[in-house]
Amino acid sequence: MKTQIGADRKPPILTRAAAVAPPRRWAQSPAFTRIELACVVCTFVLLAAVIVPVLAGGDPRSERVVCANNLRQIGLAFHLWGHDHSDLPMFEVPASSGGTRMHVLAPNVWLHFAWLSNELATPQWLFCPTDTGRPARDFSDDSDGGYLHPNFAGNATSYFLSHPFEPVPRGLISGDRNVWVESPIGCSRFINAWRVPTIPVPSSAFGWTNGLHGSAGNVLHQDGSVEQLSNAGLRQAVIDAHSDNGNLHIITPR
Ligand SMILES: [Zn+2]
Ligand SMILES: [Zn+2]
Repeated sequence: MKTQIGADRKPPILTRAAAVAPPRRWAQSPAFTRIELACVVCTFVLLAAVIVPVLAGGDPRSERVVCANNLRQIGLAFHLWGHDHSDLPMFEVPASSGGTRMHVLAPNVWLHFAWLSNELATPQWLFCPTDTGRPARDFSDDSDGGYLHPNFAGNATSYFLSHPFEPVPRGLISGDRNVWVESPIGCSRFINAWRVPTIPVPSSAFGWTNGLHGSAGNVLHQDGSVEQLSNAGLRQAVIDAHSDNGNLHIITPR
């Protein structure tokens, strides 16, 4: 009896042994193990699918939101600049009055955006997250991050500029740079520009070219509003914009 009682008093050994031994179902149910393994693998695959694009900055929706916010900031900067210049954008104001109209560097988009250096908190708002190239750090001419340095300038700019023939709210003023254009044309603001025919209606070839936001893009209207447009929407926006003798004049950074 004593021996039996002594054996009964060794539950810790039994417990330890039970803890070390593999669970019975583990050994006896390999099919369930495979299901568990499949669940774990699926979980990791799903996590990777969610996390990797975020880490790579490649979420198309968030890129469109960042880009649209950039254009809103640019629109606000145009508005602030216009306060001191009869509500006109800098490319409507002659260089002799502090603007960039017919400036010797006026065919370059970056020149006009550089005029907004006091109104834009950062030149990073001039760069779409989907674009190649790289954003500038500040508006200096430093080779390692200055917007005015040739290493940046056009490479740090993702948006076109266009001048409405007359100031109308729906006039196109800026947008993602990958717009289809037809041919070069002389321009009384930018000296040289790209021509987008608006009368007659732009051909079906007109729209966004490859890249950036796929077959859509963001535009900034003269009233400061920003919208995402399909190819058909962009075509209509160009028609609605008051154009110069049936042509929209556009300059692009690249
Ligand atoms: Zn964009
Ligand atoms: Zn023009």
